[in-house]
Amino acid sequence: MPELYIDGTWRDAAAGATREVIDPFDASVVRSVSEADADDTVAAIAAARRAFDHSDWAHRPGADRGQLLSRLADAMEADAEHLAGLETTDTGKTLVESRQDMADIVGVVRYYAGLADKAAGEVIDAPDPRIRSIVVREPVGVCAQISPWNYPLLQASWKLAPALAAGNTIVVKPSELTPLTTIRTFELLAELGLPDGVANLVLGAGPTVGAAMSASPDVDLVSFTGGIVTGRHVMRAAASNMKNVALELGGKNPNLVFADADRDLAIDQALNAVFFHAGQVCSAGARLLVEASIHDEVVDALVERAQRIVLGNGREQTTESGPLISADHRAKVEGYVAGAIEQGATLRCGGARPDDPALADGFFYLPTILTDCHPEMTIVREEVFGPVLTVEPFTDETDALARANDTDSGLAAGVFTSDLGRAQRVSQALRFGTVWINDFHPYFAQAPWGGYGTSGIGRELGHLGLEEYTEVKHIAHNTAPEPLHWFGMR
Ligand code: NAD
Repeated sequence: MPELYIDGTWRDAAAGATREVIDPFDASVVRSVSEADADDTVAAIAAARRAFDHSDWAHRPGADRGQLLSRLADAMEADAEHLAGLETTDTGKTLVESRQDMADIVGVVRYYAGLADKAAGEVIDAPDPRIRSIVVREPVGVCAQISPWNYPLLQASWKLAPALAAGNTIVVKPSELTPLTTIRTFELLAELGLPDGVANLVLGAGPTVGAAMSASPDVDLVSFTGGIVTGRHVMRAAASNMKNVALELGGKNPNLVFADADRDLAIDQALNAVFFHAGQVCSAGARLLVEASIHDEVVDALVERAQRIVLGNGREQTTESGPLISADHRAKVEGYVAGAIEQGATLRCGGARPDDPALADGFFYLPTILTDCHPEMTIVREEVFGPVLTVEPFTDETDALARANDTDSGLAAGVFTSDLGRAQRVSQALRFGTVWINDFHPYFAQAPWGGYGTSGIGRELGHLGLEEYTEVKHIAHNTAPEPLHWFGMR
């Protein structure tokens, strides 16, 4: 079956192009899928435009759309094991992680199914009592939704579920590296009986398909999750017709460990923060700030455990971490580590590919820890997006906060302390969209997700994630029996 879903029909790319999907565990070809170009993208956007302007979709009661999303959640739940297997094949992440992703995704779709009929407006207390002033929320229109490869279906679900719940029409583009679970989800969506053109799927390269989506005058909103550099391209292109933009970008996330923290917890979570999914997590705690008095002890414990992380096939129960997504991405990570050592960092472990012949074909890289890092180093300032931890000592709370906030981005931060006052002071002073206290990484459908600074614009998840997909309209109704006529007043 072809893999582009446009105007209610599965299609091949008009030009007949295809792209191979690669399993990063061993670089084998998993499948070949249709590769759209700008013309296919224009066709998908036109279908979404027609469906928004001419079908009843946007005007249906929210409860109807909520029911459809509930059915999608049920179908995805029934298919979760299959979807998890596809995600592991596509990304290399462990099956344990993929199963967790699928459970979270079903939860997100159900959450927005439940919110679909709760978008109540407001009645305003107008200064003139004869004016009835109400505020309503309406769908934005045609939404372009572009997602990355690290959490392919998770990121797509954070976009498509609220957009559909609010009555928008969508054109979805997963990363060209990881389209499999999004294709499968559209197979399930296609069974729900949505009006043609409400949900469209295009697969293809960012600079052609993604760029055409961001620039199209027929798109009203572009929601993008990916790197900061690409986010800038998207924002520039979106300026052409002043689209609404929602940007979920990368970050360099600090993790602060104070000497009064529960040591075992802090060490375990510092490893989880950076080595989970081989560090390919937007919220990875890749910058560890440790109080100087416990620096050496913490580093020794981290190095000891990091060297025992079991790399391997994500389908095997014993595997603790999979490969990086591609050869190109691994080369980028290797470049960052070499640059850090040149700038004076000390390599405490990793810094190389594993020598296990069973992993030689995949894009593996060893968990890496660098000490003697300081805030001016490139590796401390830029997102590496791999299994690489930099460690810096700090002297006190003021020093820790100054270092942590010395960044352009602001996605997430962690603080480990057993002092309740400090936990509150520090979490309030950190300039990040999410702050975890004595934990790292948890997120959930009900709470907003997004970043300060260069980490993005807007929020996904929670009720704010639905509001992103609405326009706000004020309706002022003059109910006076004999309204005043402006020019008739003289
Ligand atoms: P990327 O920016 O390279 O690509 C993301 C998506 O944008 C892909 O679908 C790609 O095809 C598309 N794209 C590429 N060029 C484009 C262009 N010119 N116009 C429009 N679209 C284009 O990012 P990636 O490497 O796929 O993902 C990793 C990045 O995503 C990291 O920086 C990570 O921090 C970020 N991320 C952020 C969050 C978050 O919630 N803030 C979540 C996951 C990933």
